[in-house]
Amino acid sequence: MIDAPPHRDPLVPPLLDAQGRTMTYLRLSVTDRCNFRCTYCSPASWGGKKDLLTPEEFERIVSVFARMGIRRVRLTGGEPLIRPDILEVARRIAAVPGVEWLAITTNASHLERLAVPLREAGVTQLNISLDTLSEDTFRRISKQGDFGTILRGIDAAVGAGYASLKLNAVVMSGVNDAEVGDLIAYAHARGITPRFIELMPFGQGTPVPTAQLVERLRASGLSLVPDEEPQGAAAGPAQYWRAPGGRVGFISPLTQNFCGGCNRVRVASNGDLRSCLGGRAQAPLHTLIRGGATDAELALAVRRALGEKPDGHRFTEPGAGASLLTMMGIGG
Ligand code: SAM
Ligand code: SF4
Repeated sequence: MIDAPPHRDPLVPPLLDAQGRTMTYLRLSVTDRCNFRCTYCSPASWGGKKDLLTPEEFERIVSVFARMGIRRVRLTGGEPLIRPDILEVARRIAAVPGVEWLAITTNASHLERLAVPLREAGVTQLNISLDTLSEDTFRRISKQGDFGTILRGIDAAVGAGYASLKLNAVVMSGVNDAEVGDLIAYAHARGITPRFIELMPFGQGTPVPTAQLVERLRASGLSLVPDEEPQGAAAGPAQYWRAPGGRVGFISPLTQNFCGGCNRVRVASNGDLRSCLGGRAQAPLHTLIRGGATDAELALAVRRALGEKPDGHRFTEPGAGASLLTMMGIGG
């Protein structure tokens, strides 16, 4: 199926970046706080910012972006579900005209309680992070959280009727790389699409290149063939393969740079627009809103920032890790 052109209003020009790519996907980090401290994500000293955007401010930002052609919105963090007002944030964003798809990325710790209310608030997709099926390894990676609650949260999501459920695992050599086959089976048994992410240099751990992982899975007897089904504009950076139980995705920021097809723009938890995950902060949207900026002024700031969007991230350059904001502030 070919996706319809994302931009509908003929009076408003599409949101293009410096490379001529059309932006249709907005990622909002709704908090930099988290109830976990994953080794690859959060530095031990991370404090957390108190002055976050309000549900009304998120709604305003999304409505400005939606008028410029943004159709898909993802809430991430930090852990988005620890915001006490997350249902209101979701409800307001889902109701913005033009928003066709509202997703959340979560560690599942609050899904047992929130899977159904979030679905009712208008969330259409969930990406759930689960790196291991071993309680010991879970503790080693996440430092905090209750493993049983996570598994029950995932089952609650399965029962809640989402249009799409994905399970994301960051693969680390010697930590969870031997479990990838088991994670695939666990996800497929629940109708979830598993995806494996190459570790990016934000914290500790050694990445496993996707090609090596695929080879290992095949050597273990799993049949994996490239998925030829067209992915459409919603595809994102994952490359999909077919296994007997369903699709398996691999996200390879290090070995298969996906920046060429980038359609996404990010707002960090402090309200700063970042046109690239690996780039610097640009338009301070929160400050502009609180200073009384009009919608037109916000849109202009967004267009200016996207005029500087780089052609790709710089994760593989020497010293990249040290210069990057933490994942929790930018939202992955
Ligand atoms: N707390 C939520 C969660 O864990 O799903 C949302 C925020 S988290 C920053 C978003 C995604 O980024 C998660 O799937 C997480 O596994 C991934 N992530 C965090 N640090 C990473 C890293 N260094 N390399 C690759 N992916 C990472
Ligand atoms: Fe928290 Fe998600 Fe980062 Fe883990 S990956 S520390 S759950 S924000």
